[in-house]
Amino acid sequence: FFLVFEGGEGAGKSTQAEALAARLREQGREVLLTREPGATDVGQRIRSLVLDQPGGPDLSPRAEALLYAADRAQHVATVVRPALSRGAVVISDRYVDSSLAYQGAGRVLPSDEVSWLSSWATGGLKPDLVVVLDVEPAVGQARITARGGDADRLEAESNDFHERVRLAFLDLAAADPRRYLVLDASRPAEEVTAAVAARVTEMLAG
Ligand code: C5P
Repeated sequence: FFLVFEGGEGAGKSTQAEALAARLREQGREVLLTREPGATDVGQRIRSLVLDQPGGPDLSPRAEALLYAADRAQHVATVVRPALSRGAVVISDRYVDSSLAYQGAGRVLPSDEVSWLSSWATGGLKPDLVVVLDVEPAVGQARITARGGDADRLEAESNDFHERVRLAFLDLAAADPRRYLVLDASRPAEEVTAAVAARVTEMLAG
């Protein structure tokens, strides 16, 4: 079972991924908790190439898309697929939809091309469920600032960029409601966790 958390910065993806993993482990399941970008050695290097640029990003959108795709190809081949093959539940903090949202809607690359690139990188591996944690960009940004995170990088992008990213996640979810769960991430974390756990338990039972 392959589950992905998506959403903007400060939506609580990693908190929710950890909470769900803990619940599933209590039920005796093997859970692999992972993330993009940066879950592998090469992915770590790609992550710092793309994200740790002093003075802001100056990568071309296509170069950025290819680097995220390379991170994802390595992630799927060496981490996600092996875990799924041994029957583990894999929970990833970000996956293909982040590319559709950030490189597609955000950087305005054609979404069919970004989709094709991701599909090539992953060999077509799709999640069973995508949980979109929806939060207003300003609320997410305030959470990042409050925890002393990298708010500068977020502020380097326009409000319009963050709004396009947010809408892209919601559009993806609206197009395929059976495979998506959209939750209001401004709600208390425990309520969000309970809603995710309910859906996952139902799917794992069915
Ligand atoms: O989720 P996390 O905070 O680790 O993501 C790091 C950043 O990478 C995000 O804030 C987002 O701006 C960027 N990103 C991206 N395209 C992706 C994945 C992440 O622009 N496909």
